[in-house]
Amino acid sequence: KRQPFRSEYELVTFQGKRKWVLEIGQGVYDDQGEVEALEGIIFDISDRKDLEDHLVFLNEHDKLTGLYNREYLEEILKKEAGIRDGRKRALIGINLSMVEVLAANYGFQYAQNLINGAAKALSSHCADNCMLFQTYANRFVYYLKDYGDINELVAFSESLAETLEALFVTDRISGGIGILEIGEAEADLDADAILRRLLIASERSIAVSHKDFGITAYNNQLEAMVNREGAIRHALSAAAGKERGHELFLQYQPILDVQKGSVAGFEALARLRTDNLGLVMPMEFTPVAEKTKLVLPLGESVFIQAFAFLGKLGELGYDTLSVSVNVSAIQLLHPDFADGLIRMMGRMAVNPSNVLIEITESIFTSDYAAANRSIEKLRKTGIRVCIDDFGTGYSSLSRQKELHVDCLKIDKHFIDQLIGADPGRAITSDIISMAHKLGYFVVAEGVEHESQLSRLKEYGCDRIQGYLLARPLDEGDALAFIARQNESRPDEGNH
Ligand code: C2E
Ligand code: CA
Ligand code: CA
Repeated sequence: KRQPFRSEYELVTFQGKRKWVLEIGQGVYDDQGEVEALEGIIFDISDRKDLEDHLVFLNEHDKLTGLYNREYLEEILKKEAGIRDGRKRALIGINLSMVEVLAANYGFQYAQNLINGAAKALSSHCADNCMLFQTYANRFVYYLKDYGDINELVAFSESLAETLEALFVTDRISGGIGILEIGEAEADLDADAILRRLLIASERSIAVSHKDFGITAYNNQLEAMVNREGAIRHALSAAAGKERGHELFLQYQPILDVQKGSVAGFEALARLRTDNLGLVMPMEFTPVAEKTKLVLPLGESVFIQAFAFLGKLGELGYDTLSVSVNVSAIQLLHPDFADGLIRMMGRMAVNPSNVLIEITESIFTSDYAAANRSIEKLRKTGIRVCIDDFGTGYSSLSRQKELHVDCLKIDKHFIDQLIGADPGRAITSDIISMAHKLGYFVVAEGVEHESQLSRLKEYGCDRIQGYLLARPLDEGDALAFIARQNESRPDEGNH
């Protein structure tokens, strides 16, 4: 065809050096049109090749540890997706926890040195059929092929755990190991889905194992958990969009004023109900909501319903009763939270002094200067603020002073200790008297037994809440409860 040619190839020079060259040339033809010779030029392109190799290396490796990176693993998984050649393939993922905390406390370099150490130690476990990747600062993944069976993967994981435990003997680093076999069922999943499952397994290890490096193989049960979480996420977004068959509603649990002997108000507790899932409790759906942006519209819906309930109480003449609403840190830290709530109270003609909000101690791990600004704004209107689950989290009573609140809700854990022959008298009564000295009123939650109530009364606790008084009630039952209470105590009622 008489076309010029162009090709790149590697050669070995007379001195034995390897070089990459680019050859461009064309034929020289005789009168008959036959090729007589080739003429052209050969360039030494070794430098360009080096640079290209380097760029490929950078694209495929973590800059700091030199290990293959996530992009490269994804590329391989993408290339091999859908392949059913009978070869066994699996991923083993390792998550180091605490690394971020250490980085925050001791600096980036300190944390990076630990990660480099882990990268080096883990590299020694690589083999021809086993590649190591670093998929995130504190996450490593092995890609294994042609192994025997799951037992071999578990044994391999155990040897990884030993290596890491020996390495981190003096550091407070622990982690989780997850195993995912890429079998028939997984062959068509995309890289993202595969790596997410692997992460679920390794995070599960961190959550449930008591060892420094626990091991979890991904299985159908984890799969079911993940699916359920997906279903709940879907249900929450449908409920937020007021779709039929999905509902976020409130139950109300009465709170008793111990000294007066009358109901002081209710705590609003959210429930999710859908045609498919039935009733879902907040323990299960709030973490899902908080992982998504849904926590904001759902939180708003909770306030709207709680305020509507306050309206009904007011109409019935119970205008001194309060409603307590749980607010998550994400809501509280939203810049428009306080102003939005104030506007809503105006719109719905709510008296702020009938409103309490409950926040948890986890606020202390976030930006609590910002939390305080929100809280201050709300308290100026007359809203009262409670620290929920007091005693379970990060706070101490001295730190509590830094947050400006009105009330502590002592966690059920301390109330449980009031049962039996050797009640944990000291700590529970100390919390109550310290709280009083600091100017807070105290609510005890999870009160189930008469004996707990009488001890709490003795310690001067202000309010109690728990199954002893009533379980969380549907709105109609809550209104009936308060009416009954007032019938039996006519002269102390609210009207
Ligand atoms: P919480 O604020 O500590 O609420 C008290 C929980 O203890 C409620 O569980 C209540 O039903 C339960 N409880 C009350 N009395 C007793 C008792 O005597 N014994 C026992 N064993 N349990 C009792 P629930 O309703 O499942 O709520 C769980 C958590 O979900 C709440 O804990 C709260 O942190 C969160 N939550 C509930 N509603 C909302 C909401 O609207 N927004 C937000 N952000 N969180 C909510
Ligand atoms: Ca609460
Ligand atoms: Ca609580």
